[in-house]
Amino acid sequence: MPSTRHVLGISGGKDSAALAIYMSRKYPHLDIEYYTCDTGKELDETYELITNLENYLGKPIIRLRAAEKSTQDPFDHYLQLYGGYLPSSNSRWCTKKLKLEPFEKFVGNDPVISYVGIRGDEDREGYISKKTNIQSIFPFRKNIWSEDVVKKVFSNANFDAINDLYKKIAVTDSNERFLEILSKQISFSFPLSEKLNLLLHIDTRLFNKLVFLYLKQTDYPLAQERDFALLDNEEVLVREDIFRLLEESGVGVPAYYNKCDFTVNDKKGQYSRSRSGCYFCFYQQKIEWIWLYEQHPERFAKAMDYEKDGYTWNDGETLQDMIQPIRMQTIKEDYIKRINRNTQKTKSQYLLDILDDAEGEGCAACFI
Ligand code: SF4
Repeated sequence: MPSTRHVLGISGGKDSAALAIYMSRKYPHLDIEYYTCDTGKELDETYELITNLENYLGKPIIRLRAAEKSTQDPFDHYLQLYGGYLPSSNSRWCTKKLKLEPFEKFVGNDPVISYVGIRGDEDREGYISKKTNIQSIFPFRKNIWSEDVVKKVFSNANFDAINDLYKKIAVTDSNERFLEILSKQISFSFPLSEKLNLLLHIDTRLFNKLVFLYLKQTDYPLAQERDFALLDNEEVLVREDIFRLLEESGVGVPAYYNKCDFTVNDKKGQYSRSRSGCYFCFYQQKIEWIWLYEQHPERFAKAMDYEKDGYTWNDGETLQDMIQPIRMQTIKEDYIKRINRNTQKTKSQYLLDILDDAEGEGCAACFI
């Protein structure tokens, strides 16, 4: 059996970059392979971030490119195969072909621990591979385990087995309140989420130890490890911590997050891009398209070139229509109104707090 590999994907976004910094600082003994899936259509700022990160880590970030023998960029290669059919949230062939398949080819059949940068203040799961040799771990969260693992470990069907395991570790690590919660079956009035939160709150290390012991009896990649450094990790990292890590390390926040001023009908606003990914990504908000048009006009023109034969990036509106002066004014004014509304609601003065409202949507392989 080959030894377990530890991998960490850099999407070009702030959270995965911060995770690489965090892991290399906190767990320098782990031999982590850093990789990035290059669609050929990222913003220059993303490529700059990857170079900065390589300098910080002191090791290369492996570039994975789909269709590596093609003379075209990976995206263009597959677009041609799909007959010009642009990807969309309902048909996300881009993620599958340009991110997931190259990653799964890279790891092959080796047992792999994949570290994922979902933050402690987010409510989303991230990409979980269907391949059983790939296990995702979430170091920024209190619950470092993936959903499939906790469902399996704490299901009622596993009730006796997990309580028996607890008895074994209770010789040295007993906790009455922990045992009391562990001994309660999941029910309508006591859902799994509540059981998890309580157990994690009472004793995170004990929780992790129990899960790890259980996994030792399974085919999960961690079953092969004698120990796992993250069992003792009780830290929870939220958005402020991510920005701090990036700034302190000198890697810096990806430049597309920098706010730019705009004025529309005497009203002032600020815009930026909220996420990594391809410059033409269909998940971007209308105001981000306008940001692209005004801040990266050559990229916007290229995005427009892809819209042909009735295919568009946005439902019901071409990019050509979107940049008509009246339409642009409306998008900007609507955006300023939304910011003002949300600022009053959240009391936050930070643009990213508003833009990041949509952060949880979309593709976890592209925007972490
Ligand atoms: S960033 Fe958007 S367009 Fe690019 S691969 Fe991801 S989902 Fe597709």
